[in-house]
Amino acid sequence: MDQTQPRFVIQASEAESMAKASGLTLTELLPSLVKSAQTLARPPISKFHVGAVGVGPSGRIFVGVNLEFPGLPLHHSVHAEQFLVTNLSIDAETHLDYLVVSHAPCGHCRQFLQEIRGAPDIKLLITSDENPEFTPLSKFLSHRFGPDHLLGKELPLLLESHHNGLSFLSEIQNLPNGISNEYVVNEKLKFAALEAANKSHAPYSGSPSGVALMDCDGKIYKGSYTESAAYNPSLGPVQAALVAYVAGGGGDYDKIAAAVLVEKDGAVIKQEQTARLLLQSISPECQFSVFHCNSDA
Ligand SMILES: [Zn+2]
Repeated sequence: MDQTQPRFVIQASEAESMAKASGLTLTELLPSLVKSAQTLARPPISKFHVGAVGVGPSGRIFVGVNLEFPGLPLHHSVHAEQFLVTNLSIDAETHLDYLVVSHAPCGHCRQFLQEIRGAPDIKLLITSDENPEFTPLSKFLSHRFGPDHLLGKELPLLLESHHNGLSFLSEIQNLPNGISNEYVVNEKLKFAALEAANKSHAPYSGSPSGVALMDCDGKIYKGSYTESAAYNPSLGPVQAALVAYVAGGGGDYDKIAAAVLVEKDGAVIKQEQTARLLLQSISPECQFSVFHCNSDA
């Protein structure tokens, strides 16, 4: 891997040649990538670098790392496995087949992974084990509580296609005569956040939401709120957008210049105050806006 540019996705053809060059299968190659993944973690509080590497049906290799945010309560943190799953969903990977992590996944992450269909069959390897080998996730979390207990089988699970049918409450009236550049940029960010909200996995509260961030160079990063059947391991939309930011080569968080949150009008749970708190803490100059939606679903 090129060490100068952090890489969070390796395309299938390259992954295949890397494996071939090492005389390994794709799954045998994964453990060798965990150490370099760990170097990409951002854990300024614990200094404990966690790396996760996973592969799905497309044959692409995805990387996940832990993120921590000084000045905020610890539950704002993103675990490497959550990062990895969010990274899969950003790039439309439909399943996670093999997962390799540097350290044993915490209970929170074992639960978070249950949102993926067929989760008990995901093969997990922990590189710091004495004799690392792929073992079904069901061995790490037996007698699980998951989506099956709360949702109908026809509803999409995490990594499956979602469309939450959200649209903006009202279009802006009285457009200015000359539409400014700033207006166009803001609209772009707003619709990126709407797209993220429409992909949000929030079947338990029925309160989907999405965030779009823009850095100083005008690059946009989208994140969809993701719920867990057990509620607490859920991942907020700002955290999901920060995964996209880190995975997409974003630099320090204070380079985030603007952020838009889109959520449902009258939703039973709201992200606005928490999102504002997190953004203010990591990028005090960031301009934050909120837009509300109707749902036809
Ligand atoms: Zn964890």
